[in-house]
Amino acid sequence: MAYRPSNNSSTQPRGARPGHRSFGGQSSNNRRPSGGNGGGNRRGAYIHPSKFINKAVAAVDEVVYEHKNNFADFPFTAALHANVAKRGYTAPSPIQDQAIPLILEGRDVIGLANTGTGKTAAFLLPIINSLTTHSPRASVLIMAPTRELAVQIEEEFRAFSQGMQLYDAICVGGTNIDRQIRDLRRGAHVIIGTPGRLKDLMNRRELNLSNVTTLVLDEADRMLDMGFINDIRTIVSQTPAERQTLFFSATITPTIKDLVNTFLNDPAEVQVRTADTSERVDQNIIEADTKEARLDILTNMLNEAEFEKVLVFGETKFGVQRLSDHLERSGHSSVAIHGNKSQSQRQRALKTFKDGKARILVATDVAARGLDIPNVSHVINYDQPATYEDYVHRIGRTGRGGASGKALTFVPTQTRR
Ligand code: AMP
Repeated sequence: MAYRPSNNSSTQPRGARPGHRSFGGQSSNNRRPSGGNGGGNRRGAYIHPSKFINKAVAAVDEVVYEHKNNFADFPFTAALHANVAKRGYTAPSPIQDQAIPLILEGRDVIGLANTGTGKTAAFLLPIINSLTTHSPRASVLIMAPTRELAVQIEEEFRAFSQGMQLYDAICVGGTNIDRQIRDLRRGAHVIIGTPGRLKDLMNRRELNLSNVTTLVLDEADRMLDMGFINDIRTIVSQTPAERQTLFFSATITPTIKDLVNTFLNDPAEVQVRTADTSERVDQNIIEADTKEARLDILTNMLNEAEFEKVLVFGETKFGVQRLSDHLERSGHSSVAIHGNKSQSQRQRALKTFKDGKARILVATDVAARGLDIPNVSHVINYDQPATYEDYVHRIGRTGRGGASGKALTFVPTQTRR
């Protein structure tokens, strides 16, 4: 069966202009993706299929972001400048441009930014700089929602702090706690962890936060979505009130506002959102009524050469594994990540996909959250996302760094008028 995306013109108001997003030029388009599924963001809310097709975008003037700073303007140590250059960064991204000077000044900062904006380096670079220039040394705690995001932060930290004798401890669930305890006892300048494991280590009296000078909450909204609110409050209550707090979130909800008001002191706000996904991701639906049809269409579609690096989303852990196994048996190199895999299995799968040794990664929403995977050519929603926000999050995995991407969503056959 040949693959043919639906072309239902009655639900396909084309008109999205090709977006351009790069760290040199940022769109001024700060519109949030509209919810509009009639049911807000409740789990399982019905989303009309027309929302999975390119949406017409009201004309908004693109404004090229004008940098205030080059990396050379930041008063970093020579070693840090060298590591930034080695990483291939030539110009600061808008969030880096705006947040780094504030963080260097010692201000508390709210960064309204999603993944892909360069927010990790925005907080890591000034932190690393102060770790090597201030005495007594800072003690940094970074909290992130998922193990994968924590590991990515650690990788960036290690790259930027190369040769500086700085040490980190990563405290995430799903991995051996004894090793983490050993790393903590040895002393770490930066602790990166997920709330559950951090709390566990605190309860075991292995994590003492009384010296924390800088606290980072990354993807705070995701941490709340995942039910970490109480853990976060408990952990933060153990850090000194006199500290610098850096708070990153893609959205501001009343609960987030409440956290900001309790955790931050006279914060400066930096707002950077990537361009609306509809501008850089070509979106369409594929109609299929039965599981067999979906599987058939997907398997055939993957034979086409343009499907170079494909991220497939499924709803359940079992479904995701089963689909990946099926694709592998059909001759398509595929790996899976989901909550039933150990941390090292997930990391291995992710690396296999990132390195191009598997062309397909099948994942659940939670496992894929916050992951930075370059050059994904297609996102396929094999199972529909539960909310429109999840949809926007999923398809944001493609069309990154100025590239364009495609997103395809399986839906039941539409009755046409
Ligand atoms: P993040 O939003 O922190 O997940 O970063 C998204 C991606 O952009 C990562 O692969 C970063 O390494 C990369 N990146 C961050 N800042 C820059 C920069 N100034 N120049 C080029 N790439 C960057």
